[in-house]
Amino acid sequence: MDTSNIILVGPPGAGKGTQAIMLREKLDALYISTGDLFRSHLSNETDLGKEAQKYMSAGELVPDALTINMLSQELEKKSDDHGFILDGFPRNVVQADALSELLDRKDLSIDVVLFFNVPNDELVRRLSTRYTCKVCQAPQNINQSEGNVTSKCNLCEGELYQRNDDAPEAIKRRLDVYDQETKPILNYYEEQNLLTEINSVGSVEEVFTRVEGALQ
Ligand code: AMP
Repeated sequence: MDTSNIILVGPPGAGKGTQAIMLREKLDALYISTGDLFRSHLSNETDLGKEAQKYMSAGELVPDALTINMLSQELEKKSDDHGFILDGFPRNVVQADALSELLDRKDLSIDVVLFFNVPNDELVRRLSTRYTCKVCQAPQNINQSEGNVTSKCNLCEGELYQRNDDAPEAIKRRLDVYDQETKPILNYYEEQNLLTEINSVGSVEEVFTRVEGALQ
């Protein structure tokens, strides 16, 4: 796989975060997850973290101005010989426009937008059994009813917790926000011939094989 500038888009629970971690190991690229950045601000109790929390816990998007500013600072870390992987940004058309302006100014462009597609009922099932590692942020599914009750991360042994935006009400809101605000960016990138759809149903490895195929 060549290093390139990649955007990962998909509804919450589509497996973007898991695929991003695998992709990051294969590609020497700057990885930026706006959700991880907000969570790290939250745990460091910064002003931005406190402000973002109001929206995150309700399953709403953090206001564009704050998000775009944070993303733009993070993109500064990109060096000339490395690509980038954006996970969770852009989340609406305003952010997509802001990103293309930022990239234009740096003489950069997007090579591909991977759209992770999963049916809605599967998303709800995945999100309600999703736990996240406190240390490496890797998401993983724990199904108590299947007796799968380990509390340690299977990658780094860190402690797992359930994000408060993975509670049932917030899950519903996040899926609605995705439908109303994020879905329009699929057309936006389709019109620019950048969109590649990845069927995200199947094992993590199966989905990753499709990702690798799409990036060849
Ligand atoms: P994620 O980890 O990508 O599911 O993001 C968790 C939460 O962080 C989202 O539900 C939003 O509240 C916030 N967030 C992450 N990325 C963005 C973004 N690009 N724009 C606005 N809010 C965001």
